[in-house]
Amino acid sequence: MRCDAHTHLQDPRFAAAGFDVPAWLRERSGAYACAVNATDEADWDAVARLAEHPGVHPVYGLHPWKIAGRRRGWEERLCLRLEGDPSAGVGETGLDRWIEGHDLDDQLGVFRVHMKIAAELNRPLTVHCLRAWGAMRDCLAAGPLPERGFLLHAYGGPAEMLGSFVDMGAYFSFSTYFTDPRRHRVRDTFAHIPAERLLVETDAPAMPPPPRLNRNHLDDPEDGSPLNHPANLALALAALAEIRSETVAALEQRTAENFLRWWGGPAADD
Ligand SMILES: [Zn+2]
Repeated sequence: MRCDAHTHLQDPRFAAAGFDVPAWLRERSGAYACAVNATDEADWDAVARLAEHPGVHPVYGLHPWKIAGRRRGWEERLCLRLEGDPSAGVGETGLDRWIEGHDLDDQLGVFRVHMKIAAELNRPLTVHCLRAWGAMRDCLAAGPLPERGFLLHAYGGPAEMLGSFVDMGAYFSFSTYFTDPRRHRVRDTFAHIPAERLLVETDAPAMPPPPRLNRNHLDDPEDGSPLNHPANLALALAALAEIRSETVAALEQRTAENFLRWWGGPAADD
């Protein structure tokens, strides 16, 4: 089974580009699972609708790029949403010093709320981090964290921090964006991640692979920019299998086991 640890399949640009996400999910039923991550309250309902498909796991929260527009009372509404769906995770949340106009203190406050809720309910927590790895490590180390572990999606942090994140219960997902062979540093890092903590992701429609590798073309009809297609998960699996000198089939099975363990229960025995 192919398991995409991090997507935004609710994104309206898919339909605008002529790609019917629900039909695509129905065709793959039983052979595919994924986590669909909200980015702000406005897309929580769209995420919930996709989660009616078997194998689709909803993830609710506020992305660090969207927190400036958050509405009062979002914490209570997030808790209500999660209590209403025991299968849902928490995210996409995190820290980002790359985006223009960032306010790290505000991001930290919002991120800590997500951590606390995920820990209290022991839900899968999906974490975004760009150029804020020191602050991220300190924040995670201070806890609380969900017992079942959390995902550092598209992990691009320092290799030296891997050990501490592993000890805290992190999973790490390899992105289609990393399929570019020139991304040596991140590819070296993924050669050293413990096998039981590896996942793969597309982040679709974001983070498309390099154009020459992309076999699933989709363009944003508004500006013509390339969108990432969820079928590009195959590229992430192939690239990561090569980096780790494994077969694609073995890696597909391993990442599926990891994904199902993380979503299905506490990651206790690894
Ligand atoms: Zn994302």
